[in-house]
Amino acid sequence: PHLAGERLTARNVTRRFAGVTAVDGVTLAVPPGRITALTGPNGAGKSTLFDCLSGAGRPDAGQVLLGGRDITRLPEHARARLGLARTFQQLAVFPGLTVADNIRVGAEQATAGRATSSPAARTEEVLHLLGLTALRDHPAADLPTGTLRLVELGRTLAMAPTVLLLDEPAAGLDRRETALLVDLLRSLADGGLALLLVEHDRELVDELASGVHVMRAGRAQYRGGVSGASGASGVRRGT
Ligand code: ADP
Ligand code: MG
Repeated sequence: PHLAGERLTARNVTRRFAGVTAVDGVTLAVPPGRITALTGPNGAGKSTLFDCLSGAGRPDAGQVLLGGRDITRLPEHARARLGLARTFQQLAVFPGLTVADNIRVGAEQATAGRATSSPAARTEEVLHLLGLTALRDHPAADLPTGTLRLVELGRTLAMAPTVLLLDEPAAGLDRRETALLVDLLRSLADGGLALLLVEHDRELVDELASGVHVMRAGRAQYRGGVSGASGASGVRRGT
């Protein structure tokens, strides 16, 4: 799909809880064809900003735009239908379903709203992409955290997103899974996807991100491009 011009923008987004301004006037853009990172200490407001972007939470002030369209007041499922998908810091998989059926849930959501290949075809495609084909009929409940992260990522990819928000995608992944994730995220960016990544692993951020926003006490500061990070031409993690 031609994704040029599709992107996500936050404009002066603010989100308050009782006694704390978790997100304080954040402005940032998530351009297509690139990986943008969001870093900062615990409690900085990263997950809360993600909630405002994805629709899991509503900002108290400011706007969220997707490809120029104001989506600030749209619920999460409506944003997903427009091509905005996310993963959670706390894993969100269906333990009672198999690996394939978890991914199928995302594929069904995509075809409910946007013209793509059939849910069955997309499920197979994503299983293959994530190296999960051998585990397809395995119940999710029995799988280790690293594998479950890939399953959750698979469910969001099956939604055929144009913008993908990933909250600490490498948490719990072993070395092999991290290498797979790095290659996958690069190829997704090369294919035109707009990616925003919350990540603490400095090495991973330097390796992947072409722009970094550092959050601290609800405020975000842009730190510009990171040397060495780009598309497929970037330096690869050794395996
Ligand atoms: P990060 O993801 O960067 O670690 P969070 O977005 O989770 O930070 O939290 C930012 C701030 O907002 C913290 O002070 C946290 O305690 C507070 N916070 C987050 N969610 C809630 C909530 N649902 N109710 C009250 N306070 C919250
Ligand atoms: Mg968080």
